[in-house]
Amino acid sequence: MNSTQASLRINASRFKDNFEALARIGSTGDGGVNRPSFSPAHLQARQWYRQRVEEANLAFHGDSAGNHTAVLSCGPASGPTLLLGSHLDSVPHGGCFDGALGVLAALEVLQTIQDAGLSLPVNLEAIDFSDEEGTLVGLLGSRALAGELARGDLRDPRGGRAALETGLQRAGLSEEGLLQAARPGSSLAGYLELHIEQGERVHRAGADLGIVTTIVGIGSYRITFIGRADHAGTTPMETRLDAAQGASAFTLACRQLVLDTFPACVANVGKIEAQPGAFNIVPARVTLALEYRAPETAAFARIEGALLELAEEQARCFNLEVEAEKLAAHPPTPMSQQVQTAIQEAADTLGLRALPLTSRAGHDAQSLAAVCPAGMVFVPSVGGVSHAPAEFTEWTDCVNGANILLQAALNLAGKMSF
Ligand SMILES: [Zn+2]
Repeated sequence: MNSTQASLRINASRFKDNFEALARIGSTGDGGVNRPSFSPAHLQARQWYRQRVEEANLAFHGDSAGNHTAVLSCGPASGPTLLLGSHLDSVPHGGCFDGALGVLAALEVLQTIQDAGLSLPVNLEAIDFSDEEGTLVGLLGSRALAGELARGDLRDPRGGRAALETGLQRAGLSEEGLLQAARPGSSLAGYLELHIEQGERVHRAGADLGIVTTIVGIGSYRITFIGRADHAGTTPMETRLDAAQGASAFTLACRQLVLDTFPACVANVGKIEAQPGAFNIVPARVTLALEYRAPETAAFARIEGALLELAEEQARCFNLEVEAEKLAAHPPTPMSQQVQTAIQEAADTLGLRALPLTSRAGHDAQSLAAVCPAGMVFVPSVGGVSHAPAEFTEWTDCVNGANILLQAALNLAGKMSF
């Protein structure tokens, strides 16, 4: 890369104006935003992004999976695309940095390169992926684009069928469209994403940024403990088949299992539903939403087996039946070595300290890794807070992150010849 490119920096005030304007859309008034997929606020944010793209004299493109991109044709007419981006949807009552920062940094990188009039061996796109957070399906737009979305993924999505149908209708999208949005891997030169860490390892290490080495594997199950509904007053304690007992014992034992045997992993029971569900009926069925995460392939397989065995064991203790329904399994995804090197070189150029680390959250980059070299930059999250209005990253770190994204993109582009 020549010295002109190495000295290129983003326009921090334009970046900040955009960030603040976007944070007002769906604002919860306490620093957070409420923009679940295809809610009115999310649709408004998408529309706002489209306007910013058009005002920047970049081409706007929307695909059949609802992904919105800004296109900068700075490379050969039929050349591949280097994608930069993240997502504009949020969890309910979430923070204003998660996703939004990455989309706006990507847009800012395109505008900076456009302003500098650079020609590159690749074209650039700043993408807003649809439904990253999983209000409807999760990583929906990125999986569709990477050709990783199957019809089966839409049959019983995590947000429910009704929410998916309503959401797609509101956004003017269809299930058929979702399944036809794949782009050939050969058209993609790579994918780079800037995101907040959502933890505090970067900050604690005294580093300026994180370079993601692997995205954690995430598996989920619906586990149902099955007993027998009985009168809660007249059935003696020793004869009742109480599904809540097994479900509770399992929930507690999960924690101990992970602490004792899988130190790098986590498990979570995020939802507990008892049926029939009344004060005076012994619960016949208790269904748990179980999720587990592991950074390595071997541990990912072992923890799944161990959790299922634990469910059987706890069911036996209380004379219950147990059913385990597998909902999803996204194995750990290593990030491209080439992209990690490009980010490290960008950090060297900018004199910033980078910490290599595993991402403990899922991201669109894991979908893209299936079809092109993909990588991620993390900026520090103050206090590690995320998915909540208190989510915060120092503005200096946001600007540094956007400059890293710019320099890493230039590094990657510079190493390509077509
Ligand atoms: Zn995110």
